[in-house]
Amino acid sequence: SIPLGYFGGIGAASRHGILVKGSVFLDLLTQLKTVVMDKTGTMTKGVFAVQDVQAIGIEPKQLAQLTAALETKSTHPIATAIIEYAGRGGEIWEEQKEKEYETFSVENVEEIPGHGLKGTVEGRTMLVGNAKLLQKFGVEFDEALTKIPYTIVMTALDGKFSGYFTIADEIKSDAAEVIKRLKSEGIRTVMLSGDKSAVVEEVGRAVGVDEWHGDLLPEDKVTQVERLQKSLAESPKAKLAFVGDGVNDAPVVALADVGMAMGGLGSDATIETADVIIQNDEPAKIATAIAIGRATRRIVW
Ligand code: ADP
Ligand code: MG
Repeated sequence: SIPLGYFGGIGAASRHGILVKGSVFLDLLTQLKTVVMDKTGTMTKGVFAVQDVQAIGIEPKQLAQLTAALETKSTHPIATAIIEYAGRGGEIWEEQKEKEYETFSVENVEEIPGHGLKGTVEGRTMLVGNAKLLQKFGVEFDEALTKIPYTIVMTALDGKFSGYFTIADEIKSDAAEVIKRLKSEGIRTVMLSGDKSAVVEEVGRAVGVDEWHGDLLPEDKVTQVERLQKSLAESPKAKLAFVGDGVNDAPVVALADVGMAMGGLGSDATIETADVIIQNDEPAKIATAIAIGRATRRIVW
């Protein structure tokens, strides 16, 4: 027979906007020794805004329009930010409010996971993405750009570096508090992200996680979680949770003992795979879920 307390626990969790897909996960939550999390959309709002554009050998306005044209083929939060910026006319050409990118020809688009986009825009070969993307295609750029603690979206036109967008996200207000609480309960906290290391370090320090890794491809996140799981293997009762939201997070959400998803911004694949879904995307709910697990255990045993 199933102990009644578990139904109480799942009900209590759902009243807090936490969906638990089975009583076994409430029990596993009480055994967590490591909580691994994604950055974008999990510890930060995942709502990007362009702060600045620097164009080389082209007008900033024209660069923004060409980049936005290519980004219309992507659903990444960065794409949304650049399209919004170009559509509103940025800061520089505010009066004009032109959406020229809507009329541009865009062909041969390839989205390269963890890198960005390649395509032909108005007959010109274009790259839009991170340092790894430009390196992959042998395009040279100023190394100093990789040290700036902002997300930098670089562009190349016909094989030449043509400028970059500085993009910022915001840390969620309850992120640091929940990390502090998890640490006080003896849980190790680790942040894994596909974003550049300088940004991950800045956010990692600000929220106070024990360990962080940036510039990760989706398969690198899997390797990292496997490594952390192995280091827990000696004690069979020590469990690991992963909290994420992006489509890239689905494999690690599946791999973790407890896979948790932020339900609001989250991709369908990740929500489907998750064992626990935090509907309102508040990191504080990670600690709430653990507390409900503990309380439920006390009633049952
Ligand atoms: P995360 O793990 O932070 O969710 P992603 O794997 O989604 O990261 O993306 C990693 C990086 O790849 C981004 O930070 C960005 O630099 C680059 N990138 C991915 N898609 C795009 C895009 N559509 N436009 C520009 N850059 C992109
Ligand atoms: Mg993400």
